[in-house]
Amino acid sequence: MTDLTRLTAAETAAKIASGELTAVAVAEAHLARIEAVDEKVHAFLHVDREGALAQARAVDEKRARGEKLGPLAGVPLALKDVFTTEGIPTTCGSKILEGWIPPYDATLTKRLKEADVVVLGKTNMDEFAMGSSTENSAYGPTGNPWDLTRIPGGSGGGSSASLASFQAPLAIGTDTGGSIRQPAAVTGTVGVKPTYGGVSRFGLVAFSSSLDQGGPCARTVLDAALLHEVIAGHDPLDSTSIDAPVPPVVEAALGGDVRGMRIGVVKEFAGEGYQAGVMQRFSESVELLRELGAEVTEISCPSFDKALAAYYLIAPSECSSNLARFDGLRYGLRTGDDGTRPAEDVTSLTRAEGFGPEVKRRIMLGTYALSSGYYDAYYGSAQKVRTLIKRDFEKAFEQVDVLVSPTTPTTAFPIGERVDDPMAMYLADLCTIPSNLAGNAAMSLPCGLAPEDGLPVGLQIIAPAMKDDRLYKVGAAVEAAFTARWGHPLLEEAPSL
Ligand code: GLN
Repeated sequence: MTDLTRLTAAETAAKIASGELTAVAVAEAHLARIEAVDEKVHAFLHVDREGALAQARAVDEKRARGEKLGPLAGVPLALKDVFTTEGIPTTCGSKILEGWIPPYDATLTKRLKEADVVVLGKTNMDEFAMGSSTENSAYGPTGNPWDLTRIPGGSGGGSSASLASFQAPLAIGTDTGGSIRQPAAVTGTVGVKPTYGGVSRFGLVAFSSSLDQGGPCARTVLDAALLHEVIAGHDPLDSTSIDAPVPPVVEAALGGDVRGMRIGVVKEFAGEGYQAGVMQRFSESVELLRELGAEVTEISCPSFDKALAAYYLIAPSECSSNLARFDGLRYGLRTGDDGTRPAEDVTSLTRAEGFGPEVKRRIMLGTYALSSGYYDAYYGSAQKVRTLIKRDFEKAFEQVDVLVSPTTPTTAFPIGERVDDPMAMYLADLCTIPSNLAGNAAMSLPCGLAPEDGLPVGLQIIAPAMKDDRLYKVGAAVEAAFTARWGHPLLEEAPSL
């Protein structure tokens, strides 16, 4: 019998729709896989066995009644624990939300349910999505299925690890500075940060509201496109949601082709700090794009060098304001409420106990950067850099259709290596951050294993805002050519757990 956890989402959906498989059998296979391996991987913070089986049963009943099923009906999914889920704990990887059960679903959660996607549970993440390794989770780290002593990326390491360990064929991440793309790169999976405003943020617990964006994670480009289509589209509950048709991502994924496309290699994303094997795989991918008929040129984006500095002022500033709501009175943890203490004291005791060191560091940094007297020097300057980065992209996209770069400078690093060195940790997002600052769309997809350590390398594709379909068109072409030539790294070479 075929192992149901090895199928793609598209294959699974087709087999359920045709009656060859039941959604319940598919859900059970994945729940059994979680039971077998997640003690080692620790991708999930919460597994909703009963809820998943009930959703799966509903799909099978729908089919039995002859009702039409959606393109992902019955397909299991792992949801990052930063989206609210009615009746199911939502912690954001933080102790401060331990025990909180949201009274409502995020718009994204609702859309998944409406599409009959089977939500298996909630995945581990860096606390409030701050980090690049999932080591900032208050609930312990997640292992990279390729090598459990290494990080699965972050902040969405639980989602990427669930895919790479075949616990789920689909997952959801959020990308504020790279938290979908970097985990995808280091686990040999596909992750897409849609155009800012393309996927609703209603019910996505805010870290940095002008940067946060939910998006699809999967093992293939087509699966990511199918999920993208389900979660994207206008939402009146999110004031920054774009009121325009969703770019034709599935059509693009089905028609992968780069012939005649103009592709720009970002000049600034190379040099010191980039692992040799990462650059080697990246150069081979560029060569492949050329062979497939793309016109490749080098493009300079001089302001990208300042993106990291600008990001680490803007994101903490917004976070210091967004996280003010965790006051010990409204949600989750409450410390020191003995009936005599004033509310302010309870709030500070709760925040002292409930937030981890990285979150505290950022709240302090952000509060400082926003304080009067420093606002112009720090936050104001960072916003100006943001404008320069946007202009670099605008200029680049006058010359090319998409940009490409490595997704991350290195492959997965060992757990513990950077945890006490925030600057080293921040460097993991060097290549991903400019797209968040500019609000455009970007994807990471596997482009082989680095020769020196045998670990996955990610290729990043960047497209202009609302041209998300270009990511899928190029991504699908690369994936097909790559697999034909060298095989698929995750499907063929991933070590068994
Ligand atoms: N690693 C980056 C940070 O720590 C990005 C996180 C994210 O995209 N959520 O802020």
